[in-house]
Amino acid sequence: MQTVSTTRRILTIDDNDAIHNDFRKILVSTGPSSKLAGAKAMLFGKNPADAPRSTVNFEVDSALQGEDGLKRLQDSVRDGRPYSVAFVDMRMPPGWDGLQTIQRLWEVDENLQVVICSAFSDYSWDDISAKLGLTDRLLILKKPFDPAEVTQLATALSEKWSLRRAARLKMDELEQMVRERTVELTHLALHDKLTGLGNRVCFNERLQAAVEKAKTSPDYKFAVLFLDFDRFKLINDTLGHDAGDVVLRGIAERITAALTIAGPAAGESLAARLGGDEFTILIDGNKETFEPCAFTENLLRILATSHRIENRDVHCTASIGVASSDGHYETADAAVRDADTAMYHAKAAGKARYVMFDKKMHEAVAARLEMENDLRHALDRNELVLHYQPIVSLRTGQLHGFEALVRWNHPRRGLVPPLEFIPCCEEIGLVIPFGMWILSQACRQLKQWITKYPGQAGLTMSVNLSAKQLLSPNLVEEITQVLTETGIEPASLALEITESAMIGDTEAAIQVLKNIRALGIHLHLDDFGTGYSSLSSLHQFPLNALKIDRSFMKNMTDRRDYMAVIHAITGLARHMDMMLVAEGVESADQVALLQTMDCDLAQGYYFGRPAPAERAQEFIVKGFPTQRLAA
Ligand code: C2E
Ligand code: MG
Ligand code: MG
Repeated sequence: MQTVSTTRRILTIDDNDAIHNDFRKILVSTGPSSKLAGAKAMLFGKNPADAPRSTVNFEVDSALQGEDGLKRLQDSVRDGRPYSVAFVDMRMPPGWDGLQTIQRLWEVDENLQVVICSAFSDYSWDDISAKLGLTDRLLILKKPFDPAEVTQLATALSEKWSLRRAARLKMDELEQMVRERTVELTHLALHDKLTGLGNRVCFNERLQAAVEKAKTSPDYKFAVLFLDFDRFKLINDTLGHDAGDVVLRGIAERITAALTIAGPAAGESLAARLGGDEFTILIDGNKETFEPCAFTENLLRILATSHRIENRDVHCTASIGVASSDGHYETADAAVRDADTAMYHAKAAGKARYVMFDKKMHEAVAARLEMENDLRHALDRNELVLHYQPIVSLRTGQLHGFEALVRWNHPRRGLVPPLEFIPCCEEIGLVIPFGMWILSQACRQLKQWITKYPGQAGLTMSVNLSAKQLLSPNLVEEITQVLTETGIEPASLALEITESAMIGDTEAAIQVLKNIRALGIHLHLDDFGTGYSSLSSLHQFPLNALKIDRSFMKNMTDRRDYMAVIHAITGLARHMDMMLVAEGVESADQVALLQTMDCDLAQGYYFGRPAPAERAQEFIVKGFPTQRLAA
C-alpha cells in the first residue's frame, strides 16, 4: 500500500524552554507512527488498520517570546511554508502576553490555528472572546497538559487547517477562472469573432465618447467612415462562404494597415465590423491636423489591392460614406446613420469611392421615407390611375391598341410620373400588388372598350411588367385569373418587359416567359437598345416584338449611325420573326423614316400623349387622320 506522507509545521511560543522540549517529544518522536494515525482515526472515524495511507509528520519550531514567534511566522509565510498550528503560552514576561501575541499572529496569517496554553487562573473564555472575538481558530489547553491532548489537538487542527487551505486554494483557482473568463467574455462581447476588430457595441461606445467630447472641446474633431464592399455578395455566392471569410479577414488587415500607416494622423482610431461586409472606422484628432479625406483616399487605395483566394486574385473595392463632427451630432447612432447615407451615395455614384455626408442627403432620405410611407397607402386610398397611350399601325394608319402607363395621384404632389415611384415600389416590394392592380385595371378597360365598340375587337393592351414581378412565384396564376375575370382574349394582351428582367436568373426568367406565352399572351421587349441585351442570347427569349427605345428616335433624323443601328434592329426582328415597335415618335419625319424601314407599329406624342381613359377613348372614336402618316 502506498503511503503519502505530509509534513505540518507547528509553532510553539512559550517563555519556558522546557515546554518546547515536551512538545517536540510528543509530536516529533511520534512520527508517522500508528499512534498518530490512531489519533487521526479516532478523530475522523477511520479504521486504524486502513488509516496510514497518508501520514502526517510534525515539524516543531519554537519561540521564547511573542515577538520571536511573530518573526518566525512572518518568515514561514514569506517562504511559502506556513505553520498550521501555534501553541501559545498565556503568560510570557517580559514580552507580549498570549492574547496580544495571537492578535499579532493573525494579522500576519489569519488561517493559523491557535491553542492557548494557560494555567488555571488565567483569563476566562469570555475574556478571551472579548479580546480576540468569537472564532473557531482558537482552543484552550489547560496546563499541565496531557500528551495525548497535545497530539489530538495538533492532528485535528492541522487537518482542519489543511482542509481550509485546500478549499481556499480551490476558491482562489475558481476566482481566477472566473476572472479570466470574464476578461474573455468582455472581449467577445466587444469584438468581432471573425476579424478580431471591434463590434457594433464597442464602436458605438467609443463613438458616443467622441460625440460627447466634440460637444465640449471645439478643437476636437472626429469622422465616422462607413464601408460597404461592392462585390462581396458575388464573392460569397460564387466562391463560397469560406472564401468570403478570407476576404473579410483580408479587409480587416487592410484597414488595420491603413490605420497603422496613418499613425497619429488617425488619432485614437477604432475599426469595427458591424456585420456582413459592413465596417466602420472612427478617426479623430485636433482640428489643425485632422484630415479625414486624405486618410480615406489612402484607405481606398489599400482596400483596392486584390485578395489571393485559391490561386486567383479577387478584387473587392469599397464604397465609403464619411460623416464628421462638423455635423454636431447628439448621438453615435446619428453619426453612423449619416455615414451610412453617404455610403449609399458613394454606391450610387459608381462605387469604389467615398462621399462626405451632406445635409441635403438627409432631406432626400426623409423625402424618400415619406414617399415609402405614402406609397403603402396608395392602393387603399385609390390613388393609382392609368393613362393610355395609343399605338398605331404604320402599315394601315389604324389604331392598333394602347399602352397602359401608371400615374400616382398624390394628394399634395398631384400626378406623379411612374419613374419617380416605381423604382421605390420595387425596392419595398409594393410593385407586386401595384402590378396586379395595373394589369387587371388595364384589362378591364380594354374589355369595356371592346364591348362598347364592337368594331374594335382586335384592339390590344400593353402593360409594363417590372423585373421584380417576373420573379414573383404566383405571377402566371394571377395573370390567368385576371384573364378569366375580365374575359379578354389572351392575344389582345401584351406584357412589356425590359432587358433588366433578363439579367440574374436568366433560366428562371425564360421559364416564366414561356409559361406566359403558353397562355397566348404576347411579350414585348421594352426600351430595346438601352440595356445590356446580348444580341446572341435574344433568341432564347420567347418574344413577339422589340420596342426600339425612344432615345433612338430623337437622333435618327440627323445621325446616320443611329439610322444604321435601327436598320440592324429591324433586320434582327425580321430574322427572328418579331414585330418592331418604335416608341417616342414625335415627328412626321420620323414616321416616314420608320416606314421606309418596314417598322410595324409606332407610339409617341406625334400620335397622342398618354391620357386618362375618357380622353384616350377619342382615339378609338376618331382614329388618326391619314395625313399623320407619311405623305
Ligand atoms: P415605357 O414603358 O417605355 O413607357 C413609355 C414612356 O415614354 C412613357 O413615359 C411615355 O409617356 C413616354 N413617351 C411616350 N411617347 C413619347 C414621346 O413621343 N416622347 C417622349 N419623350 N416620351 C414619350 P412614362 O409614362 O413616364 O413611363 C415611364 C416608364 O415608367 C415606362 O417606360 C415604364 O418603364 C414605366 N412604367 C410606366 N407605367 C408602368 C407600369 O404600369 N408598371 C411598370 N412596372 N412600369 C411602368
Ligand atoms: Mg412600356
Ligand atoms: Mg419603353
